[in-house]
Amino acid sequence: MITGKNCIAGEFSAKGNVEFKTTNPKLNIQNETTFVEASSEEIELAVTSAWDAFKVFRKLPGDKRAEFLNAIADEILALDQELLDTYCMESGLPEGRAIGERGRTMNQLRSFATLVANEDWRENTFDAAEPDRKQMPKDDLRKTMIPLGPIAVFGASNFPLAYSTAGGDTASALAAGCPVVVKSHPMHAGTSELIASAIVKAAEKTGMPKGVFSSINGGIQAGVDLVSHPKIKAVGFTGSITGGRALFDLAAKRPEPIPVFAEMGSINPVIITPNAIAKRGNDIAKTYAGSITLGTGQFCTNPGLLLTIKDENTEAFINELAKETIALDAQCMLHPNIKSGYVSKGESVTSQDGVAIVGQLKGDLDPNYAASAVATVSGTEFLKNTKLHQEVFGPFSLVVQCKDEAELLQVIEELEGQLTGTLIAEDNDDLDIAEIVDALQNRVGRIIYNGVPTGVEVCPSMQHGGPYPASTDSRFTAVGIHAIKRWVRPVSYQSFPLELLPEHLRK
Ligand code: NAP
Repeated sequence: MITGKNCIAGEFSAKGNVEFKTTNPKLNIQNETTFVEASSEEIELAVTSAWDAFKVFRKLPGDKRAEFLNAIADEILALDQELLDTYCMESGLPEGRAIGERGRTMNQLRSFATLVANEDWRENTFDAAEPDRKQMPKDDLRKTMIPLGPIAVFGASNFPLAYSTAGGDTASALAAGCPVVVKSHPMHAGTSELIASAIVKAAEKTGMPKGVFSSINGGIQAGVDLVSHPKIKAVGFTGSITGGRALFDLAAKRPEPIPVFAEMGSINPVIITPNAIAKRGNDIAKTYAGSITLGTGQFCTNPGLLLTIKDENTEAFINELAKETIALDAQCMLHPNIKSGYVSKGESVTSQDGVAIVGQLKGDLDPNYAASAVATVSGTEFLKNTKLHQEVFGPFSLVVQCKDEAELLQVIEELEGQLTGTLIAEDNDDLDIAEIVDALQNRVGRIIYNGVPTGVEVCPSMQHGGPYPASTDSRFTAVGIHAIKRWVRPVSYQSFPLELLPEHLRK
C-alpha cells in the first residue's frame, strides 16, 4: 500500500510539513494519496546512512551485489498489478507501456548483476615490475576502478520506471558499489514509493546495509539540499536543460565539486535526402508520423527536426507527413505541466518569422491530450534564429528545407549537441553522404542509418548521451552496461604486496 512517506535507510517516515498529491492526467484530477516532502533532518539521515553503508557496500564481493540487483528485479515483478495501476494512474501512459518499461527496468538490473558478478568490469590492468631495467627500474603497477561514494539520482518524469527509482542510474550505481539516494519525481511519487519498497525488501533479503538506498519526496529545495551535501559524490539526472544545468552549476560551485551526469534536451535531427523522398516519400512519412507521436512524443530521442534539401517533391512529402501525423489519435501527456510546456514551446517555435504550420490536430481534445503538429521553415531562417533550435517536448516536428547541400551541412554544424542523428538516404545517393555523416557525428552520440531514433536498445554498444546540452558529459552513456563507468574512478597500486591488494588484483 502506498503511504505517501519517504524511504529513509530502509524505514518509511514522514516528518516534513509540506504535502502534495500526484495527478491522474487522463482524468485531470488529483490522486488520493497525500505525499509528504522530506524534512532536512530526513535528507541528512538518508545521506549520512548512505555514507555509512558505503564503507560496507563497497567491499562486498561482486556476486553479493549481483544477488541484491537480481532480488530488486524479483521484488519489482512481485508488485504485480498495483505497480502497473499506479504507473498508469500517475502518468497517463497505457498498461502495455507500463509492462514494457517494467521488463526493461528488470533487464537493466539483471544485466548489471551479470556484469558485476565477476570483477572484469573494473578494467583491471597489470604492469609487471622490471627491477633490472636500465637507467631506472620499473615498479609493479596495477590499476582498477573503485566506486565514488553515495550518488543522488533524480527520477525522470517520462520514464517512471526505467529512468527513475530503480532505473538505469540507480542500477548502475548500486552495481558499482555506490549507495543511492533518489529524489523521486513528484509526478509519480506513488510509483516511486512502490519501487522503493521493493528495493528495501531486496536489501533485507540479501543482507545489505540499511543506508544502501533511500528515496525522498520533495521539490527543488530537496534536490538542492541533496546535491549540496558533502557526502554525495556524484549525480544522475534526466529532465530539462534548466533543471540539469542548475544542478550541474550547483555541483561545480560546491567546496568539493562533483560530477553531474545530466541527460537533457535533444531535437534529434533526421536528414532525409531528396532521393529518398523521391523514391519512398510516402513510406518515410508514415514511419516518421509513428516515431514523432510515439509515447505522445515524450521521448528524449523524439525526432523533433527533419532536414532536407528543397526540390519539386519536398512540399508533397511534408504535406503527407503532416497528414499521417495528425491522422493518429491524440494521446495523453504525462502531466498538466508537461502539456502546458508543450503548448507554450510549440507556440514559441511556430510564431517565429518564416515558420508555417503544415498540419495540426484539431478538435475537442481532453485537457491533457496533445495536438500533434508538423511545421516547416527554410534553412536560411533556421540558421538565423536559434529559437527554432529548441526542444518542443511532445508530438511535434519542424521540417527545415535547405536550399542546397552546403546549407544543409551548415545547419548540421550549427546545431547544439544531440543524443541522436539519423540519415535517411538511398544507396549511391547524389549527396556526399560521407561528408554529412562526418558533420553529424560531431554533433551527436548515436547515428542511425535508414531508421528512426526512437527505441533505445539496452546493450553494450548503445551510446545514450551526446555533446552538451544533450548531456553534460558526452564521454559517458546513460544506457547499457558502460553506464557503470560514471560512478567509478581509477586507482593505481604501486609496488604492493599481494596480500594487501584487492583480491581481483592478486595474480
Ligand atoms: P525537470 O523540470 O527538469 O525536473 C526533473 C527533476 O529535477 C524534478 O525532480 C525537479 O523537481 C528537479 N529540478 C528541476 N529543476 C531543479 C533545480 N533548479 N534544482 C533542483 N532540482 C530541480 O523535468 P521534468 O519535470 O521531467 O519535465 C519538464 C520538462 O523537461 C519537459 O516538459 C521537457 O521539456 C523536459 N524534459 C526533457 C526530457 C528529455 O529527455 N529530453 C525528459 C524529461 C523532461 P521539481 O519537479 O520539484 O521541480
